[in-house]
Amino acid sequence: MNTLVLPLIYLDNNATTQPRRVVIEAQAEAESRYWGNSASPHPLGQEAKRALQFAKLSIASHLGCKGSELVLTSGATESNNLALAGVFEAEQYRRKARKHVLVSAIEHPSVLEVAEALEAQGAIVEQIQVDTNGRINLDDLHSKLTQHTLLVSVMAANNEVGTIQPMTEVAEACHQVGAFCHTDATQWLGRIPLNLAEWNVDLLSASAHKLHGPKGIGLLFIREGLPIAEQQHGGGHQGGKRSGTVDVPRALGFATALHAAAENSDWGPVRALRERLFEGLVQSAALVQRISPIDNCLPNTLTVRFIGVDSQALMASARTICCSPGSACSHASPKPSHVLMAMGLDRDEAAECLRFSLSQATTTAEIDQAIKTLSEAARYVRSALGGFA
Ligand code: PMP
Repeated sequence: MNTLVLPLIYLDNNATTQPRRVVIEAQAEAESRYWGNSASPHPLGQEAKRALQFAKLSIASHLGCKGSELVLTSGATESNNLALAGVFEAEQYRRKARKHVLVSAIEHPSVLEVAEALEAQGAIVEQIQVDTNGRINLDDLHSKLTQHTLLVSVMAANNEVGTIQPMTEVAEACHQVGAFCHTDATQWLGRIPLNLAEWNVDLLSASAHKLHGPKGIGLLFIREGLPIAEQQHGGGHQGGKRSGTVDVPRALGFATALHAAAENSDWGPVRALRERLFEGLVQSAALVQRISPIDNCLPNTLTVRFIGVDSQALMASARTICCSPGSACSHASPKPSHVLMAMGLDRDEAAECLRFSLSQATTTAEIDQAIKTLSEAARYVRSALGGFA
């Protein structure tokens, strides 16, 4: 019996990306050259240390900061934990003054859940609301900021719907009351040029695997002099901000990925393919609603609601399309996406949404095939439910 195996179409680049060949090669070479411990005083250690400094400087040059302002972590989850818990803890040791923490309602769980955990340590946490496009309500931010606000965390670009936020305005508002501003730029870095001087944020998280780099490495930018308490205690690595032997080859992989992203900065064709996908679905799948905003959105991200079609059932019928129901990070739990709910969708509507996230490797043929597969699957699920075909 012949079984026809259709190729997979990968439209889940906000969950993770395929590492670039240059990244794999740079890392493989570094594995055999820079395996010394960068904290060791002997020549092998010092060689690894120099390679690490090079990687940090290279990453810093893309962010517009100093190498010494970067802490390498295991990924953005850890960076977000360090940012929120580290700043809160340092403040409590230092002067015990400010306990108010503001987070946007659409943050990644690695921000929301840390903020929640800080409540047990005395933090007073509030959420900043967003509009139906997922854009932060600046009036709400201003009205909630007080002289007691220690830290505000607003993600630069949302992983589920792609909405991008006015970070310069957010940081300015924070600084007016003496609060620190943290942004989770995990989905932004490598897709839109990032200028720390322009945003003027105090802390920034990112992760290499979202920009065709290795998994297991991320960064936290910490503005020079900002008090932060180490969350991972041990040997005092990275200026005492994050203990643990640094994975130098991975750091070089991160730097290589960021450099390649800067050299391939044209996302116009990706945006055009995303629009082709949406128009194609409108025309063939009927009854689709655009959830991602048209403006102020990542160029690669499109969240769509297939009205009357459960997203899990749709994915099961369109198995060759790798996409995500709401968010890959939260779909293990049956809860509806907090992002979609914050944007005003109800539970049922949220359960009908799929997120497609393209990359620069996505082709027109793949998009056309995806439209065909998804619209057929939507028709099938609708007719199986006995509803409209
Ligand atoms: N923040 C955002 C916005 C993300 O999209 C992700 C990954 N889904 C994370 C944080 C966590 O990143 P990591 O996988 O590197 O821990």
